[in-house]
Amino acid sequence: MKTSDVSGSLDPEDWNRTREQAHHMLDDILSYIENISKQPVWQPAPQEVRAKFKTPLPNSPTPLWALHEEFRENILPYTVGNVHPGFMGWVHGGGNVPGMLGEMLAAGLNANCGGRDQVPLEVERQITHWMRDLFKFPDTASGLFVTGTSMANLLAVLIASRTRLGTHVREHGLCASGSKLRGYTSCAAHGCIRQAFDLCGLGTASLREIKTDANHRLRIDELKYWIAQDRREGLTPFITIGTAGTVDVGAIDALDSIASLCRAEDMWFHVDGAYGALGALSKTIAPLLEGMSQADSIAFDFHKWGQVPYDAGFLLVRNVEQQLSTFSAPAAYLNRETDGLAAGSPWPCDLGPDLSRGFRALKTWFTLKSYGSERLGAMIDKSCALAWLMQQRIAREPELELLAAVQLNIVCFRFRSENPDPLNRQIVIDVQNSGLAVPSSTMIDGNFAIRAAIVNHRTQSADVHRLIDAVLERGRHYARETLSGKPTLLA
Ligand SMILES: *Cc1c(COP(=O)(O)O)cnc(C)c1O
Repeated sequence: MKTSDVSGSLDPEDWNRTREQAHHMLDDILSYIENISKQPVWQPAPQEVRAKFKTPLPNSPTPLWALHEEFRENILPYTVGNVHPGFMGWVHGGGNVPGMLGEMLAAGLNANCGGRDQVPLEVERQITHWMRDLFKFPDTASGLFVTGTSMANLLAVLIASRTRLGTHVREHGLCASGSKLRGYTSCAAHGCIRQAFDLCGLGTASLREIKTDANHRLRIDELKYWIAQDRREGLTPFITIGTAGTVDVGAIDALDSIASLCRAEDMWFHVDGAYGALGALSKTIAPLLEGMSQADSIAFDFHKWGQVPYDAGFLLVRNVEQQLSTFSAPAAYLNRETDGLAAGSPWPCDLGPDLSRGFRALKTWFTLKSYGSERLGAMIDKSCALAWLMQQRIAREPELELLAAVQLNIVCFRFRSENPDPLNRQIVIDVQNSGLAVPSSTMIDGNFAIRAAIVNHRTQSADVHRLIDAVLERGRHYARETLSGKPTLLA
């Protein structure tokens, strides 16, 4: 092997020029956020732009200023648009400036938050304590940042099943345990719950999707029926997953009733509170979440109603021992040092499958401290108030029809027509392509619905009206075409 140069690093050769460029980039992204409402909510990326991302791995350097130019031209204009106040498509948070700056600092620190004795882990633990207080969980509760609620739900199902089957499954696997576990959730639950059963090896057939009532809430009588039925068949009901804020209409299950039933049946009670759990920050929504504090675990996202930049999912578990016995290498955390850099366990790597992990807690800490819980709660209230405003506007427009009563922050409606599904599907696409607003769609009781999920703290009443105006304009356009004998859609 040739002796090569052993000096040098990847740090800037000219720190002053880099500093200047860095300030410019920071200014630029702040201006982007400040002026976001002047941009289209979304625009499709042209082929020329996509082609830029099909070039081979570069083998020589590109200056930072040039990379920033490429970013400005080819990346920045073509995101989903969830920073924009007109984005109501999916349940996406809008992000926030202090959170973004926290993320920047975290990248500079480059902390690996898997373990060791370091204050970044104290930041994560402080957030666990805050969430413990918010959700009235005991001091034995543990918390862990993960990518999102999909991952947090998966970990919760794993912990619940391990707790039921015993830790020997960690060695011998599910098959050897002869598992006949059954889990329950509503048919309005998020698809990631079914996926969690799949990934855990329990199989999706081990999850019963229980019918919902007229308000899209899990039916307790059906749940009781199926638990009893499954017990009669020799199966083992082990978990019920309630949803605090369903993605299609924002329904909150009767968490109180599910909690008592789970207690009576000796089952794990998990709450998928992806976006709704942080409704606990709002004085008006908190009472609707009664019962959540009795859960064995809660999965939720700081990146939705909490407005923390992506990604910042979180899992809170009532009893740390159950989480440790699912994930820690047998008693590893007990054998660690009590002094030096390897002290301070258990560590996050004992509470989940990740060893190396970033400092998601910092952007969350910046967000929670910058605004305080009341202000964040007020933004949550505001998004619900805007959904009510949209519902009222729809009620005043004879051409529009509401498809589900507004429960929180999600509005499902359609343009009335003889053949409404294809028409409304096209309206959603047209409005998205217009750049004026971004709604999405869902199916409500078998009907295609235009769905507006108001999550972004920047959204105002003008944005609500702009979306409705755009839907009316498109709907009337197609209605006129039909009258003039050019039924492009209704054929
Ligand atoms: C968004 C959402 C999820 C998935 O969360 P991710 O953070 O996207 O993984 C699960 N359940 C509900 C109810 C959701 O709204």
